Amino acid sequence: MSDSPILTPLPQRIHNELAFRLITVKDKVLLASSFYRLTFSGDMLTGFSSRGFDDHIKLFFPDAQSGALLMPTISDDGIVWPEGPRPAMRDYTPLTFDTQNNLLTLDFYIHDRGVASDWAATAKPGDTLLVGGPRASLQVPCGYREQIYICDETGLPAMQRRLNDLAASQTECTLSLYAFADASVGEAYLQTALPLERHWLGSGLMHGEPLQNLLTVLQAQAPITEDYFIWMTGEGAAVKLLADKLLTTTSVDKDRVRAVAYWHAKTATSR
Ligand SMILES: Cc1cc2nc3c(=O)[nH]c(=O)nc-3n(C[C@H](O)[C@H](O)[C@H](O)COP(=O)(O)OP(=O)(O)OC[C@H]3O[C@@H](n4cnc5c(N)ncnc54)[C@H](O)[C@@H]3O)c2cc1C
Repeated sequence: MSDSPILTPLPQRIHNELAFRLITVKDKVLLASSFYRLTFSGDMLTGFSSRGFDDHIKLFFPDAQSGALLMPTISDDGIVWPEGPRPAMRDYTPLTFDTQNNLLTLDFYIHDRGVASDWAATAKPGDTLLVGGPRASLQVPCGYREQIYICDETGLPAMQRRLNDLAASQTECTLSLYAFADASVGEAYLQTALPLERHWLGSGLMHGEPLQNLLTVLQAQAPITEDYFIWMTGEGAAVKLLADKLLTTTSVDKDRVRAVAYWHAKTATSR
């Protein structure tokens, strides 16, 4: 008889039908002094579905000058926008969706300056946005024996979703979080009774020596079991470096690593 452990199946991608929906701010609260939690309502949310903890939707913002919010149509030729400049678009995680009342909740991390962050900071009940998606969801089984999550503030909404899913599934696993966020913010933000080993690595420090130190920690311990899942998100160059190094210097399997750039630091040349 083989001694091979039974492994949890690999994550599976599923596709959703594309839809654009107008949503209206219903409620807004400040969370952990760094996030605005906005709850949106709207009849067009009927049929909205988000089945992956790190799903994203596209938010389209009103024109900064006119306040107009453009709405595309979906035809056989694809997405058709009205004439004129396209609206600004950003990705966000659907934190919760209440199907009975058509209520969608999103958490916006407030950073120095940006279309989405500024919009959320000044948003008030009655303001509208356009959302598209989620077009696809990655369904990540809860059962992996060892699970490692790496992110900054922008990944904490997905992390909270994952913790909710894990709690509901009553999975027994080793759970670690390495977050480039301040401990006071992270502890106030995340709500879970699960035994989560938390490492708060400081806000804005996902680069240079702190990033290298995390890589050294991961290289030393990865992977402990054969049944593991590693999730890494945050600033694009940092995520790429971590994923590339981990996959080329350890026996970690790329099919068990989910690495996604959540935002990109502007370099002198990209400004
Ligand atoms: C799949 C996915 C899910 C996401 N989910 C969430 C979510 O639920 N909540 C959330 O808050 N964000 C989330 N993000 C990240 C968010 O989309 C980006 O941070 C986005 O750039 C914010 O847009 P903005 O208009 O505020 O700033 P931008 O106009 O895009 O950027 C303006 C400036 O701010 C910098 N910047 C952007 N983001 C940050 C940051 N986090 N910290 C410091 N500087 C930054 C940029 O480098 C740029 O210099 C997600 C991203 C992805 C890809």
